[in-house]
Amino acid sequence: MDLKTEVSELKGIGPKKARAFRDAGIVTLSDLMEFFPRRYEDRRTVTPISSARAGAECLVVAKVAAKRSPRGYYRKNSPLTLIVSDGTGSLEIVFFNGRFLSGLFDEKSEYAFFGKVSENHAMRQMIHPQFAKAGSADDVRGIVPIYPQIPGISQREIRRLQAELVPLYSELEEWIPEKTVREQRLASPEYAIKNTHFPEDGHRMLAGKFRLVFGELFTMETGLMYLRAGDETGGKGVSFSCEAGDRFAAGLPFELTKGQQAAWKSIREDLESDKRMNRLLQGDVGSGKTVIAEMAMLSAASCGLQSVMMAPTELLATQHFDSFTKDLSGWKKPDGRPVSIALLKSSLTAKEKRTVYGSLESGETDILLCTHAVLEEKVKFRDLGLVITDEQHRFGVRQRRILSEKGENVNILVMTATPIPRTLAVIVYGDLDVSQIREMPAGRKPVKTTLARSEDRDKVYDFVEGQLIKGRQAYIVAPLIEESEKIDASSAEEIFRLVSKRFPSYRVEMVHGAMRPQEKDAIMQRFASGETDILVSTVVIEVGINVPNASVMVIENTERFGLAQLHQLRGRVGRGTDESYCFLILDQESEVAVKRAEIMCRTTDGFEIAEEDLALRGPGELFGTRQHGLPQLMISDLSRHRDILEKAAASAKELLADDPGLKKPENLPLKERIRSMFGENISLDL
Ligand code: ADP
Ligand code: MG
Repeated sequence: MDLKTEVSELKGIGPKKARAFRDAGIVTLSDLMEFFPRRYEDRRTVTPISSARAGAECLVVAKVAAKRSPRGYYRKNSPLTLIVSDGTGSLEIVFFNGRFLSGLFDEKSEYAFFGKVSENHAMRQMIHPQFAKAGSADDVRGIVPIYPQIPGISQREIRRLQAELVPLYSELEEWIPEKTVREQRLASPEYAIKNTHFPEDGHRMLAGKFRLVFGELFTMETGLMYLRAGDETGGKGVSFSCEAGDRFAAGLPFELTKGQQAAWKSIREDLESDKRMNRLLQGDVGSGKTVIAEMAMLSAASCGLQSVMMAPTELLATQHFDSFTKDLSGWKKPDGRPVSIALLKSSLTAKEKRTVYGSLESGETDILLCTHAVLEEKVKFRDLGLVITDEQHRFGVRQRRILSEKGENVNILVMTATPIPRTLAVIVYGDLDVSQIREMPAGRKPVKTTLARSEDRDKVYDFVEGQLIKGRQAYIVAPLIEESEKIDASSAEEIFRLVSKRFPSYRVEMVHGAMRPQEKDAIMQRFASGETDILVSTVVIEVGINVPNASVMVIENTERFGLAQLHQLRGRVGRGTDESYCFLILDQESEVAVKRAEIMCRTTDGFEIAEEDLALRGPGELFGTRQHGLPQLMISDLSRHRDILEKAAASAKELLADDPGLKKPENLPLKERIRSMFGENISLDL
C-alpha cells in the first residue's frame, strides 16, 4: 500500500463506494489524504446540562427521561421530542419529522448529544443534534473532523479510512524550498496532514492548516507566475495615436455607454503612452466590448502597426471578420491605402493559410481576426503593436503568452464576459489593469427574475404558456444532478416528459450533454429558427447561442446551481428589446440556496454577483476558477485566505526572481508539484 494505491483496494470499499469516491474526485489514497475536513466539532469535554448555555455548541451525555411524539395513528411528519437529563438539569431534544427515530432511543439509556443549544420559552433545547449511544463506536470524542458529504459514505467510514492512512504519512515529502519553509515557519507535510485529520489541539490544527493552505497557494502562485513570465506591466511598450479610434466612434450610429467611454479612455491612455498596455476588459455579453477593440485596432492600423484579435471559436472569429470588414470599409491609412483585414482559422485550406501567413509577414495585413490557429509557429508578423484575446477565459495562460510573444513589447488587451472578482483577477492575470463595462447599451431591459417554490410550478408554467401564446419561446433548464452525463440526461428526461405533457400543443425538444455534437447543433438550430417552442436542456446551452425571441427561462432545482452559472444561464434571455423573465424554482431550501436566489432577483450585474459568489462559497468550489485557468483548490478558500495568498505570492515572486525557469535542483519537487496541480488544465512546458 502506498500513496498511489487506489481507494478501491481498501477493505470494505466495493465497486459502489469506489464509484462514489471517484465521483467526488478521489481515486488514490493520496487523493483521500487530501480530502480535507470542512469543519471540526469540539467534542473533547462533556458539558453538564446545567452549564450548557444557549447559543453554544456542546456535547452533553444524558439519559432519556421521557419520549414524546403525537399519539394515535401513524403520522409521517410528526416530531419526536425527548426530555433528557444528566443529574445537573434537563434538556429538550427535538427532531422535526423525527417520529421514525423514536425506536432508536430507550428510556433510561444514556446517549451523547452534540449540537447547538437554543432556548424556547425558558426551556433549553437542542434541535436535530447528532447523537450516539454513550460508549458506542459512533460516540466519538476529541476534536472531530467533519468531512464534505459523499453520497453513500458515512462520516464514520471516512474517519475509519483516514485512520488507515496514518502509516503512509511518513512517505510525504517536502516540496517547498527550504528557504521558504524557514521564512514562513511552515510545519512539515506530515505534521500538517496528521493535525488536519486528527488534530490534538486547536493550536496544532491551525499550524497544520496554515501549512496546507500556504503550500497549496504557493504552488499555484508559482505556477501562474511562471506561466505569466514576461507579460508583467511596467515595461516599455509600442505606443501609437488613437485619434482614428475617436473618429470611428464619432461616426457610429449610437453613443458609447458611460462604461465604454471610460474603458476607451483608459485604453487610449495606455496605447498613447510608452507604457506597455496589459489590461483586462470585462463586460457581459452584449455590453459592447467588440466596438472598443475595433477602435483600438483601427488606431493601430492608422499608425502603420498590425493588430490581432483571437477568438475561441471559428464562428466568433468569422463574425468578427464580417463585422469589421463592413464597419471599416472605406477607412484609409495615412498613406492612402485601405485598411486591410484578414481571417485566419483552422478550416482554411493550406493554400489560403499560406496567403494569410505571407500577408502578415510582409505587413500587408493590418488587422487579423483569428482563432487559436494563429498560435502556430509559422505565423509571423512584421510589425505587431496590439494583441487582443476575446472571451479569454476559454484560453490557457500559455496560449495568451504565445500570442503576445509574436511581437515585441506588444500591448495586450484581454476581454471576458465571465465576471471575475477583482481579487481573483489579480491572482489569475497578475498586475494587470482592469476596466469594466457595467451597463448595457440603452434600450435593453434587465430580466425580471422571480423566486418560486416547487408548489408554484403550475403557476410558473401558466405564465410560460402566456408567453408562448404571444409567439415567444422558452428555455427550461434541468438540474445537473451529478457530473455523470447519464444521470444528468435522465433528470432532464423527467422534466422533458413533464413539460411535454403540460404543453401538448407546443413543440418541445430536449438537449443534454450526452448527445453527439451534430445532434445538439441540429436541436439548437431548430430552436434558434423558431421551429421549436420550448427547449428543455441541461446546462449545455452554449454561451454563443443567441435567440432574441426567447423571453422566458425557467430554472429547475435552482439550489444545484452556483451563482455565476445562474447568471450565465439567465443571460440567454433578455436579448431583444421586449421584457423577459426568469423563474428560479427552489425544490430544496437551504440557507445558501435562498441567498443565492435572492441575489439573482436583486441584481443583474455580473460583477456584483461574482463578488457575492466569492463570499458565499467555500474552498475549491468557486465556479469560474477553472474557467479562468485556476487549478482546483483542495483546502484554500480564496475569499477567506487572502492574507495567506499575499504571503504565498510574495514568496513565489522571490523564488522565481532567483530561479525563473525552476531549473535548480532544490526546486524540482516544487516543479513536479506544479505540474500535477495544473494537470491537463493548462499545458505547461516546464
Ligand atoms: P460584446 O462583445 O461585449 O458581447 P458587442 O460589442 O458584440 O458586445 O455588442 C453587441 C451589440 O451591441 C453589437 O451589435 C453592437 O454594435 C451594439 N452596441 C455596442 N455598443 C453599443 C451602444 N453604446 N449603443 C447601442 N448599441 C451598441
Ligand atoms: Mg463579444
